[in-house]
Amino acid sequence: MNQTEKVKSTATKAAKEEPTSGDLISYESLDDAAYEELPEAEYLEAQKQLLENEKSIYLGQAEALKAEADYLAQEAEPGDTQFDEESGEGGTTTIDRERDLALAASALAAVEEIDDALRKIEHGTYGICESCHEVIPRMRMRALPYARLCVKCKNGGLSRR
Ligand SMILES: [Zn+2]
Repeated sequence: MNQTEKVKSTATKAAKEEPTSGDLISYESLDDAAYEELPEAEYLEAQKQLLENEKSIYLGQAEALKAEADYLAQEAEPGDTQFDEESGEGGTTTIDRERDLALAASALAAVEEIDDALRKIEHGTYGICESCHEVIPRMRMRALPYARLCVKCKNGGLSRR
């Protein structure tokens, strides 16, 4: 296993074996009906845990991907990066590196979405559709804790452009 594969498998592992707190497990074990019945404060707490849990996964992924990209950059011949297409092998490294950086960027974009959702919890605007301002059903928020739109607005979004 080379260094690149090692970094990749670490990233996968981190994503699958994220630490879970006792509280998170207790909310996770609730069925949908019980989740709907939670008092608002507990519902928000449960969502906050989901968000923070996902955030740490995405941050871990971004970190591992950036480490891999850095490694690939070191692996490439110094000063050779502009001519990678010519050498073939170096070109693959560049493509891998760009892919890693793109994946890291999208992981960080997800972190920003999560931070936005956490701010909404602080401001009391969490779980409200940004388009129609209706309360988004808890089941949708549970499945996608940083959803900005209700399903109706999400699906109808294109026609409003
Ligand atoms: Zn809506």
